[in-house]
Amino acid sequence: MRIIGLLGGMSAESTTLYYQAMNRLVRERLGGLHSAQLLMWSVDFAPIAEMQAQGAWEAAGEVLAQAAGRLEGAGAEAILICANTMHLVADQVQAAIGVPLIHIADATAAAVKAAGCSRPLLLATRFTMEKAFYRDRLRAQGVEAAVPDAADRDRLHAIIYDELCQGVVTQASKTDVLAMIEKAQACDSVIFGCTEVGLLLSPEDLALPVIDTALVHAQAAVDFALS
Ligand code: GLU
Repeated sequence: MRIIGLLGGMSAESTTLYYQAMNRLVRERLGGLHSAQLLMWSVDFAPIAEMQAQGAWEAAGEVLAQAAGRLEGAGAEAILICANTMHLVADQVQAAIGVPLIHIADATAAAVKAAGCSRPLLLATRFTMEKAFYRDRLRAQGVEAAVPDAADRDRLHAIIYDELCQGVVTQASKTDVLAMIEKAQACDSVIFGCTEVGLLLSPEDLALPVIDTALVHAQAAVDFALS
């Protein structure tokens, strides 16, 4: 089994989902007492979030590139950035290491298509919903993601940073996000495009197929580890 390096802490609330999912998936595949071979570098998210807010993406990318190098040095054979937003600096991180970075948008596009869908609603941070890096990567793989309107994007962004990333889950926020999904008539599926959204909603809450990026990313890493 190959060793996977996790760049976590963005936020810590969702990194635990990766840890649980990867260990469960390895146990399901190999049985018995098998579990994933993992290394983790978990950042302090506050300075990273500050750099995001200031648009200091290269500086934030440098923090992750250095951490990825440390994981590679410790033996990681592939790296995961355990968040969607920080894939804005995926190329910078990949350039700093000699092992593959397993890209969350590639795992997501494959999962959308495997569900027989092509027009998902993307629920994510404002960065992921509004900047080109994520939707362009999906589009290049035949997936045309729609996003909520500007007011809903603001509300969702606040729910992610002010609540979910801080371990706060409320019924009011759940109701608001379900209403955003209700409006997306033209969509055939929903991407939980922030790794914390699965803490707020579950696929059973929705009539449309759901692609939870934390879970499909963890699955892609386990596929690599066991290949
Ligand atoms: N975990 C989130 C994501 O998947 C948001 C936090 C962050 O900005 O990294 O995008």
